This record gives sequence, structure tokens and C-alpha cells, in this order.
Amino acid sequence: MSEQVVLGVDVGGTNVKAAIVSVSGEVMTAVSYPTDAEDGPERFVQRLYEQFIKLLQKSGCQLTDVLSVGVGLAGFLDVEHGYIEEAVNLHWRNVAIVQLLSESLHLPIYLDNDANIAALGEAWQGAGQNAKSVLCVTLGTGVGGGIVLDGQIYRGVSTMAGEIGHITVKPGGPLCNCGRHGCLETLASATALVNMGVAHGLHSPSGGTANAEEIFALAKAGHRDAQQVIQELVNWLGVGLGIAANLLNPDKIVIAGGLVNAGDALMDPLRASFAANALQRVYRSCELLPATLGSRAGMLGAARLAIQGAALENSVL
Ligand SMILES: [Zn+2]
Repeated sequence: MSEQVVLGVDVGGTNVKAAIVSVSGEVMTAVSYPTDAEDGPERFVQRLYEQFIKLLQKSGCQLTDVLSVGVGLAGFLDVEHGYIEEAVNLHWRNVAIVQLLSESLHLPIYLDNDANIAALGEAWQGAGQNAKSVLCVTLGTGVGGGIVLDGQIYRGVSTMAGEIGHITVKPGGPLCNCGRHGCLETLASATALVNMGVAHGLHSPSGGTANAEEIFALAKAGHRDAQQVIQELVNWLGVGLGIAANLLNPDKIVIAGGLVNAGDALMDPLRASFAANALQRVYRSCELLPATLGSRAGMLGAARLAIQGAALENSVL
């Protein structure tokens, strides 16, 4: 009998990443294709089914080898009822996504938001491996967060746990997408870095707005304003991490998202800022690490969610 597998699906605003993954964590085969969310959820489900069949053929697995499907997407979800309340980047509202998927794929479907899924992926196979408690913080357009305790996503009572991006770090600060002011993500996301660069008059070599990578390059070349902008971001992020770590006392904090490509230029000052904002016994027992899975974290986390769901259902794994 061939090994049992799951389908892990990471639904991004631009691309869907899907993979057939064995229960032991081996990626058998993977694909990335355009989301085309504007075609609507029904067409999305149809395309996913087509890709799933192709992936199965490539992997050499049989349909009967597939235990379940895990799906991660950005948005406000009712995980218990398998419902998308609002997925801003897909422009979808009130979609019974789990029902649609199970009618098409005829498999158990497990759903969670992208930040939780990425955290689960990093905790399973990435920088958070072998930790009892992992806080994963993704620096992108916003600041996403996910908490994994003893290998399981911690969701809280209404699946809002881990929303570190909306901790108020600067009362009365910049307006956030959530409608409040001074949330961490208005000061420490990749978008915030670019905005601060604009405020400091930083430019890309071509004369346009400097992106995050260019701001780090300018700082490395000795540009004072660029160095200051990065320090400002790191200061705010350290405040947010300090609050979260004092509360959770995690053994690993994993920083994900494109900014991590800056390597030590981000992580070294961030470790100092974190240490300045967390209790000594908290930061001394916590490793602050860059994510290692990159854009594969969501796909692998979704696969892990599917495996855990199937294990709960069958109590066989
Ligand atoms: Zn907010």
C-alpha cells in the first residue's frame, strides 16, 4: 500500500500554491497557478479540483491514498463552520468555502487563516521545529501572527488569537486598516517601512519610491536616513514582540515575510530591541529566528492542518 497523503493549499491574492504531501512531510509534487479570484469561488473550486487531479497523476498516488485537504487563506474566517466572512485580497464575502470544496473534492476539508497556517508550517518543518511553543510573525503588507502550542494552532475563543499586528503600540498613531490607531502593523510591516522611507525622502536608484530591499541596501551603503528608518521599524517591532513574549513565554519566535531576506541586518538589531522590551527570563529562554520555509510555509502548514484533522477524525495516525 502506498503512503497516505494530503493536499495542502495556500490561497494567495495572486497565486494558489498546492501540494500533495505525505503524512511524514515529504512533498510529492507541487504546483503554483494564478488565483484569478475575480472569477468567483465556484470557478476557483473547479480549478483547484483540476489541479488536484493533475497533481495526483504526477505524484503516482491514488485518490484513495488522500486523507484530507488543508486550506489556508487570508481573511476573517469562521473556521468552525468553514466559512469565509471576508477575504479582502480575494474580494470574497460570505462564502461557504468548506462546503463548496467538499462537494467538489469529496474529502474532509480543514480551513485556517494564512498567518496560522504559516506558523504551523514553520513549527512543523521550518525554523520552529522541535519547539514546544512558537510565535510566528509575518512582516508583509501587514503584520500577521500565529501561535502554535504543542504542535497545534492556538486560535482563542473566536479564532482571533495571534493577531499581534493589531496590538496597539502607539496610541493615537497612524490609522490602521482595522479602523483603530497605532497598531503594530502601521509601524512595523514592510509597507510601513516603505512609507517611512518616503517620509524620509528615500529614493530607489531609478528615482522612484525605495522598496524594502532598496532601503536595506541604502542602509548597508551607509545612508543615515535609511539606517534610521530601519531602526525605527525594529524599535516598534521589538515593543510588539516584547508584549507578546511576556504574555506567551514562547521558546521560539519566528520572523517571516520578505523583510527576512535582509538577514542579520534585520535580525541583529531586532534581537537587541526584543531584549530591551521583554523580561530578562523571557528573552533569555526565547530564540528569535528568521523563517526558513519562505513561500512554502503556507502550503506545508495547510498540509499539516489536513494531517492533524485526519488524525483527529480517524485516531489512526
Ligand atoms: Zn489594526
